[in-house]
Amino acid sequence: MKIDFEKASFKDFEDIEGKDPFARASLFHDYSVALRASGHMNYRQLALTGCGPEMDLLIPGNPNSTFVSLVSNDYLGFTQHPEVKAAAIAAIEEFGSGAGASPAIGGHFSYHEELESKIAGFFKRESAIIYTTGYTANSASLQCLLRKSDLAILDAAVHASVYEGCLLTNVKTFPHNNLDALERILAAAKDKYRTRMVVIDGVYSQDGDLAPLSQIVALVKAYGAYLVLDDAHGTGVIGETGRGVIELENLYDQVDIITGTFSKTFAHVGGYLVADPKLINFLKFQSRQHLFSATSTPAACAILKAIDLVDEEPFWMGRLHENVAYLKSGLISLGLNIGPTESAIIPVKIGPIRQNAEVCKLLLDAGIYTNQINYPAVSRKDARIRMSVMATHTVEQLDKVLNAWEWVVTKRNIKNFE
Ligand code: PMP
Repeated sequence: MKIDFEKASFKDFEDIEGKDPFARASLFHDYSVALRASGHMNYRQLALTGCGPEMDLLIPGNPNSTFVSLVSNDYLGFTQHPEVKAAAIAAIEEFGSGAGASPAIGGHFSYHEELESKIAGFFKRESAIIYTTGYTANSASLQCLLRKSDLAILDAAVHASVYEGCLLTNVKTFPHNNLDALERILAAAKDKYRTRMVVIDGVYSQDGDLAPLSQIVALVKAYGAYLVLDDAHGTGVIGETGRGVIELENLYDQVDIITGTFSKTFAHVGGYLVADPKLINFLKFQSRQHLFSATSTPAACAILKAIDLVDEEPFWMGRLHENVAYLKSGLISLGLNIGPTESAIIPVKIGPIRQNAEVCKLLLDAGIYTNQINYPAVSRKDARIRMSVMATHTVEQLDKVLNAWEWVVTKRNIKNFE
Protein backbone atom coordinates (compact mmCIF):
# COMPACT_ATOMS: atom_id res chain seq x y z
CA MET A 1 0.00 0.00 0.00
CA LYS A 2 1.33 3.44 -1.00
CA ILE A 3 0.94 6.35 1.39
CA ASP A 4 0.88 9.82 -0.12
CA PHE A 5 3.30 11.71 2.16
CA GLU A 6 1.84 15.06 1.03
CA LYS A 7 -1.58 14.22 2.49
CA ALA A 8 -0.58 11.79 5.23
CA SER A 9 -0.82 12.21 8.99
CA PHE A 10 0.76 10.16 11.80
CA LYS A 11 -2.44 8.12 12.04
CA ASP A 12 -1.86 6.58 8.60
CA PHE A 13 1.11 4.64 9.94
CA GLU A 14 -0.68 3.19 12.94
CA ASP A 15 -1.75 -0.11 11.43
CA ILE A 16 -0.84 -0.88 7.81
CA GLU A 17 -2.03 -4.17 6.37
CA GLY A 18 0.80 -6.59 5.68
CA LYS A 19 3.45 -4.47 7.41
CA ASP A 20 4.87 -5.62 10.73
CA PRO A 21 5.94 -3.00 13.34
CA PHE A 22 9.48 -2.74 11.95
CA ALA A 23 8.23 -2.23 8.39
CA ARG A 24 5.77 0.39 9.60
CA ALA A 25 8.52 2.10 11.56
CA SER A 26 10.71 2.16 8.47
CA LEU A 27 7.99 3.74 6.36
CA PHE A 28 7.28 6.25 9.12
CA HIS A 29 10.97 7.05 9.21
CA ASP A 30 10.87 7.95 5.48
CA TYR A 31 7.84 10.13 6.13
CA SER A 32 9.56 11.90 9.04
CA VAL A 33 12.63 12.58 6.89
CA ALA A 34 10.44 14.12 4.18
CA LEU A 35 8.59 16.23 6.77
CA ARG A 36 11.85 17.40 8.32
CA ALA A 37 13.28 18.33 4.93
CA SER A 38 10.38 20.70 4.32
CA GLY A 39 10.55 22.13 7.85
CA HIS A 40 7.18 20.58 8.67
CA MET A 41 8.17 18.24 11.50
CA ASN A 42 7.11 20.77 14.10
CA TYR A 43 6.80 18.32 16.99
CA ARG A 44 8.98 17.37 19.96
CA GLN A 45 10.84 20.66 19.77
CA LEU A 46 13.77 20.60 22.14
CA ALA A 47 13.24 23.20 24.89
CA LEU A 48 16.25 24.32 26.89
CA THR A 49 14.34 26.40 29.46
CA GLY A 50 11.26 25.70 31.58
CA CYS A 51 7.61 25.97 30.67
CA GLY A 52 6.59 29.63 30.36
CA PRO A 53 5.46 32.47 28.09
CA GLU A 54 8.94 32.54 26.55
CA MET A 55 11.14 29.52 25.94
CA ASP A 56 14.55 28.77 24.50
CA LEU A 57 14.36 26.10 21.80
CA LEU A 58 16.98 24.29 19.79
CA ILE A 59 15.63 24.05 16.25
CA PRO A 60 18.26 23.25 13.61
CA GLY A 61 18.16 25.84 10.83
CA ASN A 62 16.00 28.31 12.76
CA PRO A 63 17.73 31.66 13.42
CA ASN A 64 15.98 32.28 16.76
CA SER A 65 16.92 30.88 20.14
CA THR A 66 14.21 32.50 22.29
CA PHE A 67 10.57 32.15 21.25
CA VAL A 68 7.28 33.52 22.52
CA SER A 69 5.61 30.29 23.53
CA LEU A 70 1.90 29.49 23.19
CA VAL A 71 2.12 25.76 23.75
CA SER A 72 1.78 25.37 27.53
CA ASN A 73 -1.49 24.66 29.29
CA ASP A 74 0.05 26.09 32.43
CA TYR A 75 -2.61 28.79 32.09
CA LEU A 76 -1.87 30.75 35.26
CA GLY A 77 1.90 30.33 35.05
CA PHE A 78 2.00 28.38 38.32
CA THR A 79 4.79 25.98 37.18
CA GLN A 80 7.15 28.90 37.83
CA HIS A 81 5.41 30.29 40.93
CA PRO A 82 7.98 30.43 43.78
CA GLU A 83 5.55 28.99 46.33
CA VAL A 84 4.58 26.09 44.07
CA LYS A 85 8.21 25.23 43.46
CA ALA A 86 8.98 25.58 47.18
CA ALA A 87 6.15 23.15 48.05
CA ALA A 88 7.61 20.49 45.75
CA ILE A 89 11.12 21.00 47.08
CA ALA A 90 9.99 20.85 50.72
CA ALA A 91 8.03 17.65 50.09
CA ILE A 92 11.00 15.99 48.41
CA GLU A 93 13.12 16.94 51.42
CA GLU A 94 10.51 15.42 53.75
CA PHE A 95 9.43 12.31 51.83
CA GLY A 96 12.21 11.65 49.30
CA SER A 97 12.04 11.45 45.54
CA GLY A 98 9.63 8.59 44.92
CA ALA A 99 6.66 6.73 46.37
CA GLY A 100 8.14 3.26 45.98
CA ALA A 101 4.96 1.22 45.45
CA SER A 102 1.40 1.17 44.23
CA PRO A 103 -1.21 2.54 46.65
CA ALA A 104 -2.67 -0.75 47.88
CA ILE A 105 0.69 -2.20 48.87
CA GLY A 106 2.76 0.57 50.43
CA GLY A 107 2.62 3.61 48.15
CA HIS A 108 -0.23 5.51 49.80
CA PHE A 109 1.16 8.53 51.68
CA SER A 110 -0.33 11.36 53.67
CA TYR A 111 0.17 13.79 50.74
CA HIS A 112 -1.90 11.53 48.47
CA GLU A 113 -4.72 11.55 51.00
CA GLU A 114 -4.41 15.34 51.30
CA LEU A 115 -4.49 15.74 47.53
CA GLU A 116 -7.59 13.58 47.21
CA SER A 117 -9.49 15.53 49.83
CA LYS A 118 -8.30 18.91 48.53
CA ILE A 119 -9.37 18.28 44.94
CA ALA A 120 -12.73 16.85 46.08
CA GLY A 121 -13.24 19.93 48.29
CA PHE A 122 -12.31 22.23 45.39
CA PHE A 123 -15.48 20.96 43.65
CA LYS A 124 -17.52 21.04 46.91
CA ARG A 125 -17.61 17.24 46.95
CA GLU A 126 -16.50 14.56 49.38
CA SER A 127 -14.37 12.03 47.54
CA ALA A 128 -11.73 11.77 44.87
CA ILE A 129 -9.19 9.31 43.50
CA ILE A 130 -5.92 10.43 41.97
CA TYR A 131 -4.08 8.86 39.04
CA THR A 132 -0.54 9.52 37.83
CA THR A 133 -1.76 11.24 34.64
CA GLY A 134 -4.93 12.95 33.45
CA TYR A 135 -4.92 10.48 30.58
CA THR A 136 -5.20 7.48 32.91
CA ALA A 137 -7.77 9.21 35.09
CA ASN A 138 -10.06 8.94 32.06
CA SER A 139 -8.86 5.78 30.37
CA ALA A 140 -8.46 3.65 33.49
CA SER A 141 -11.65 4.69 35.25
CA LEU A 142 -13.89 4.26 32.23
CA GLN A 143 -12.30 0.92 31.44
CA CYS A 144 -13.13 -0.19 34.98
CA LEU A 145 -16.69 1.15 35.01
CA LEU A 146 -18.00 0.27 31.54
CA ARG A 147 -18.05 -3.25 30.11
CA LYS A 148 -19.77 -5.40 27.47
CA SER A 149 -23.35 -4.69 28.44
CA ASP A 150 -22.88 -0.94 28.92
CA LEU A 151 -22.88 2.03 26.54
CA ALA A 152 -20.62 5.08 26.47
CA ILE A 153 -22.14 8.04 24.64
CA LEU A 154 -19.37 10.42 23.65
CA ASP A 155 -19.26 13.90 22.27
CA ALA A 156 -17.12 13.27 19.17
CA ALA A 157 -14.58 15.86 20.35
CA VAL A 158 -13.69 14.31 23.72
CA HIS A 159 -10.04 13.57 24.45
CA ALA A 160 -8.23 10.48 23.13
CA SER A 161 -8.00 9.13 26.70
CA VAL A 162 -11.81 8.81 26.83
CA TYR A 163 -11.90 6.84 23.59
CA GLU A 164 -9.21 4.55 24.97
CA GLY A 165 -11.18 4.04 28.18
CA CYS A 166 -14.14 2.84 26.13
CA LEU A 167 -12.37 0.07 24.20
CA LEU A 168 -14.05 -2.63 26.34
CA THR A 169 -17.57 -1.25 26.04
CA ASN A 170 -20.05 -0.15 23.39
CA VAL A 171 -19.61 3.35 22.06
CA LYS A 172 -21.85 5.80 20.25
CA THR A 173 -20.67 9.29 19.39
CA PHE A 174 -22.69 12.40 18.67
CA PRO A 175 -21.43 15.35 16.60
CA HIS A 176 -19.73 17.91 18.82
CA ASN A 177 -22.22 19.76 21.07
CA ASN A 178 -25.18 18.53 18.98
CA LEU A 179 -27.95 18.09 21.56
CA ASP A 180 -30.54 16.72 19.13
CA ALA A 181 -28.18 13.94 18.15
CA LEU A 182 -27.41 13.24 21.80
CA GLU A 183 -31.10 12.99 22.60
CA ARG A 184 -31.69 10.62 19.67
CA ILE A 185 -28.99 8.28 21.00
CA LEU A 186 -30.33 8.49 24.56
CA ALA A 187 -33.86 7.72 23.37
CA ALA A 188 -32.77 4.79 21.19
CA ALA A 189 -30.52 3.35 23.92
CA LYS A 190 -33.09 3.49 26.71
CA ASP A 191 -33.62 0.04 28.30
CA LYS A 192 -31.08 -1.52 25.91
CA TYR A 193 -27.94 -1.30 28.03
CA ARG A 194 -27.13 -1.88 31.69
CA THR A 195 -25.52 1.57 31.97
CA ARG A 196 -25.63 4.58 29.69
CA MET A 197 -22.86 7.03 30.44
CA VAL A 198 -22.51 10.30 28.57
CA VAL A 199 -18.96 11.68 28.48
CA ILE A 200 -18.24 15.30 27.60
CA ASP A 201 -15.50 17.87 28.10
CA GLY A 202 -16.12 21.18 29.87
CA VAL A 203 -13.78 23.17 27.64
CA TYR A 204 -12.94 21.37 24.39
CA SER A 205 -9.22 21.06 23.79
CA GLN A 206 -9.16 21.79 20.06
CA ASP A 207 -11.86 24.45 19.56
CA GLY A 208 -11.68 25.96 23.05
CA ASP A 209 -15.47 26.13 23.15
CA LEU A 210 -17.64 25.06 26.11
CA ALA A 211 -20.20 22.32 26.63
CA PRO A 212 -23.81 23.51 27.11
CA LEU A 213 -23.72 21.83 30.49
CA SER A 214 -27.14 22.59 31.94
CA GLN A 215 -28.89 21.36 28.80
CA ILE A 216 -26.83 18.17 28.78
CA VAL A 217 -27.52 17.61 32.49
CA ALA A 218 -31.25 17.93 31.81
CA LEU A 219 -31.15 15.44 28.93
CA VAL A 220 -29.04 12.93 30.80
CA LYS A 221 -31.42 13.04 33.78
CA ALA A 222 -34.53 12.83 31.60
CA TYR A 223 -33.25 9.58 30.09
CA GLY A 224 -31.86 8.09 33.32
CA ALA A 225 -28.23 8.07 32.15
CA TYR A 226 -25.04 9.16 33.96
CA LEU A 227 -22.81 12.11 33.14
CA VAL A 228 -19.00 12.29 33.16
CA LEU A 229 -17.43 15.72 32.73
CA ASP A 230 -13.74 16.10 31.86
CA ASP A 231 -12.93 19.74 32.55
CA ALA A 232 -9.16 19.48 32.12
CA HIS A 233 -8.96 22.86 30.39
CA GLY A 234 -11.64 24.73 32.35
CA THR A 235 -10.58 23.91 35.89
CA GLY A 236 -8.79 26.77 37.60
CA VAL A 237 -9.59 29.27 34.85
CA ILE A 238 -13.33 29.26 34.02
CA GLY A 239 -16.08 30.47 36.38
CA GLU A 240 -16.00 33.22 38.97
CA THR A 241 -13.63 31.26 41.26
CA GLY A 242 -12.09 28.91 38.69
CA ARG A 243 -14.16 25.81 39.42
CA GLY A 244 -14.66 25.36 35.68
CA VAL A 245 -17.82 25.10 33.58
CA ILE A 246 -19.65 23.47 36.47
CA GLU A 247 -19.48 26.82 38.30
CA LEU A 248 -20.99 28.83 35.45
CA GLU A 249 -24.46 27.47 36.20
CA ASN A 250 -23.89 26.18 39.72
CA LEU A 251 -24.14 22.53 38.73
CA TYR A 252 -21.76 21.13 41.35
CA ASP A 253 -24.05 18.31 42.49
CA GLN A 254 -25.56 17.58 39.08
CA VAL A 255 -22.62 15.84 37.43
CA ASP A 256 -22.01 12.20 38.42
CA ILE A 257 -18.27 12.13 37.76
CA ILE A 258 -15.87 15.05 37.31
CA THR A 259 -12.47 14.22 35.82
CA GLY A 260 -9.47 16.43 35.26
CA THR A 261 -5.74 16.82 35.26
CA PHE A 262 -3.03 18.30 37.46
CA SER A 263 -0.88 19.01 34.39
CA LYS A 264 -2.50 22.25 33.30
CA THR A 265 -3.51 25.02 35.75
CA PHE A 266 -2.37 22.89 38.67
CA ALA A 267 1.18 23.04 37.35
CA HIS A 268 2.38 19.48 37.83
CA VAL A 269 1.33 16.12 36.41
CA GLY A 270 -1.42 13.66 37.37
CA GLY A 271 -5.18 13.34 37.13
CA TYR A 272 -8.26 12.78 39.27
CA LEU A 273 -11.87 11.71 39.45
CA VAL A 274 -14.33 13.32 41.84
CA ALA A 275 -17.53 11.37 42.51
CA ASP A 276 -19.73 9.59 45.01
CA PRO A 277 -17.60 8.07 47.86
CA LYS A 278 -18.66 4.49 47.11
CA LEU A 279 -17.79 4.79 43.44
CA ILE A 280 -14.43 6.31 44.33
CA ASN A 281 -13.72 3.51 46.81
CA PHE A 282 -14.66 0.95 44.15
CA LEU A 283 -12.14 2.49 41.73
CA LYS A 284 -9.42 2.50 44.38
CA PHE A 285 -9.61 -1.29 44.55
CA GLN A 286 -10.88 -2.24 41.07
CA SER A 287 -9.22 0.15 38.64
CA ARG A 288 -6.18 -1.81 37.45
CA GLN A 289 -3.95 1.11 36.54
CA HIS A 290 -4.49 2.62 40.00
CA LEU A 291 -4.10 -0.68 41.80
CA PHE A 292 -1.02 -2.01 40.01
CA SER A 293 0.99 1.13 39.30
CA ALA A 294 3.15 3.24 41.62
CA THR A 295 1.64 6.44 42.97
CA SER A 296 2.66 10.03 42.29
CA THR A 297 5.88 11.28 43.84
CA PRO A 298 6.22 13.78 46.72
CA ALA A 299 6.78 16.52 44.12
CA ALA A 300 2.99 16.31 43.69
CA CYS A 301 2.79 18.56 46.76
CA ALA A 302 3.28 21.37 44.23
CA ILE A 303 -0.36 20.70 43.29
CA LEU A 304 -1.56 21.36 46.86
CA LYS A 305 -0.11 24.87 46.68
CA ALA A 306 -1.33 25.49 43.12
CA ILE A 307 -4.90 24.60 44.14
CA ASP A 308 -4.67 27.05 47.06
CA LEU A 309 -3.32 29.78 44.80
CA VAL A 310 -6.43 29.71 42.60
CA ASP A 311 -8.28 31.16 45.63
CA GLU A 312 -5.41 33.08 47.23
CA GLU A 313 -4.27 34.95 44.09
CA PRO A 314 -7.34 35.40 41.87
CA PHE A 315 -5.61 38.20 39.95
CA TRP A 316 -3.84 35.59 37.80
CA MET A 317 -7.18 34.54 36.36
CA GLY A 318 -8.01 38.20 35.70
CA ARG A 319 -4.73 38.65 33.81
CA LEU A 320 -5.35 35.50 31.82
CA HIS A 321 -8.75 36.75 30.68
CA GLU A 322 -7.29 40.15 29.71
CA ASN A 323 -4.60 38.43 27.64
CA VAL A 324 -7.11 36.13 25.97
CA ALA A 325 -9.35 39.07 25.03
CA TYR A 326 -6.34 41.01 23.66
CA LEU A 327 -5.04 38.18 21.48
CA LYS A 328 -8.48 37.17 20.25
CA SER A 329 -9.42 40.66 19.14
CA GLY A 330 -6.06 41.12 17.39
CA LEU A 331 -6.43 37.85 15.48
CA ILE A 332 -10.01 38.63 14.50
CA SER A 333 -9.00 42.06 13.20
CA LEU A 334 -6.44 40.30 10.99
CA GLY A 335 -9.36 38.42 9.44
CA LEU A 336 -8.40 35.07 10.93
CA ASN A 337 -10.95 32.37 11.72
CA ILE A 338 -10.66 31.44 15.41
CA GLY A 339 -13.99 29.62 15.62
CA PRO A 340 -16.22 29.59 18.72
CA THR A 341 -13.53 29.61 21.44
CA GLU A 342 -14.57 30.90 24.87
CA SER A 343 -11.42 29.93 26.74
CA ALA A 344 -7.64 30.35 26.80
CA ILE A 345 -7.30 27.93 23.88
CA ILE A 346 -7.26 29.89 20.64
CA PRO A 347 -7.18 27.96 17.38
CA VAL A 348 -6.58 29.59 14.01
CA LYS A 349 -8.23 27.37 11.44
CA ILE A 350 -6.06 26.76 8.41
CA GLY A 351 -7.55 23.73 6.62
CA PRO A 352 -5.16 21.41 4.75
CA ILE A 353 -2.55 19.59 6.86
CA ARG A 354 0.56 20.64 4.93
CA GLN A 355 -0.50 24.29 4.73
CA ASN A 356 -1.00 24.18 8.47
CA ALA A 357 2.51 22.79 8.93
CA GLU A 358 3.89 25.55 6.70
CA VAL A 359 2.16 28.25 8.77
CA CYS A 360 3.54 26.70 11.95
CA LYS A 361 7.04 26.78 10.43
CA LEU A 362 6.66 30.41 9.33
CA LEU A 363 5.58 31.38 12.84
CA LEU A 364 8.67 29.61 14.23
CA ASP A 365 10.79 31.55 11.73
CA ALA A 366 9.27 34.69 13.24
CA GLY A 367 10.11 33.50 16.78
CA ILE A 368 6.62 32.29 17.73
CA TYR A 369 6.13 28.77 19.07
CA THR A 370 2.66 27.33 18.45
CA ASN A 371 1.21 23.85 17.95
CA GLN A 372 0.08 22.46 14.62
CA ILE A 373 -2.96 20.32 15.26
CA ASN A 374 -3.79 17.79 12.57
CA TYR A 375 -5.81 14.64 11.99
CA PRO A 376 -6.69 12.57 14.02
CA ALA A 377 -6.93 15.23 16.77
CA VAL A 378 -9.24 17.08 14.36
CA SER A 379 -10.77 16.03 11.03
CA ARG A 380 -8.47 15.91 7.97
CA LYS A 381 -9.72 19.16 6.46
CA ASP A 382 -9.83 20.99 9.75
CA ALA A 383 -6.16 21.42 10.67
CA ARG A 384 -5.37 24.41 12.82
CA ILE A 385 -2.68 26.27 14.69
CA ARG A 386 -3.50 26.09 18.39
CA MET A 387 -2.35 28.67 20.87
CA SER A 388 -2.70 28.49 24.64
CA VAL A 389 -2.58 31.87 26.33
CA MET A 390 -1.01 32.31 29.76
CA ALA A 391 -1.61 34.87 32.50
CA THR A 392 2.12 35.60 32.42
CA HIS A 393 2.31 36.62 28.74
CA THR A 394 3.16 40.33 28.46
CA VAL A 395 1.44 42.70 26.03
CA GLU A 396 4.78 43.01 24.18
CA GLN A 397 4.88 39.26 23.71
CA LEU A 398 1.30 39.16 22.46
CA ASP A 399 2.06 42.03 20.05
CA LYS A 400 4.97 40.02 18.71
CA VAL A 401 2.56 37.13 18.10
CA LEU A 402 0.10 39.39 16.27
CA ASN A 403 2.87 40.93 14.14
CA ALA A 404 4.03 37.46 13.17
CA TRP A 405 0.50 36.48 12.15
CA GLU A 406 0.18 39.65 10.09
CA TRP A 407 3.44 38.76 8.33
CA VAL A 408 2.23 35.19 7.67
CA VAL A 409 -1.12 36.37 6.34
CA THR A 410 0.58 38.85 3.99
CA LYS A 411 3.33 36.48 2.92
CA ARG A 412 0.96 33.63 2.12
CA ASN A 413 -1.81 35.91 0.90
CA ILE A 414 -4.31 33.95 2.92
CA LYS A 415 -7.12 35.88 4.51
CA ASN A 416 -9.94 33.86 5.92
CA PHE A 417 -8.66 30.30 6.30
CA GLU A 418 -11.59 27.93 6.08
N1 PMP B 1 -8.45 15.54 29.03
C1 PMP B 1 -8.27 16.55 28.16
C2 PMP B 1 -9.47 17.30 27.68
C3 PMP B 1 -6.99 16.87 27.70
O1 PMP B 1 -6.82 17.87 26.84
C4 PMP B 1 -5.87 16.12 28.18
C5 PMP B 1 -4.43 16.35 27.71
N2 PMP B 1 -4.01 17.51 27.38
C6 PMP B 1 -6.10 15.09 29.07
C7 PMP B 1 -7.40 14.83 29.49
C8 PMP B 1 -4.95 14.26 29.59
O2 PMP B 1 -4.29 14.95 30.58
P1 PMP B 1 -2.74 14.73 30.92
O3 PMP B 1 -1.96 15.43 29.85
O4 PMP B 1 -2.58 15.35 32.24
O5 PMP B 1 -2.47 13.26 30.91
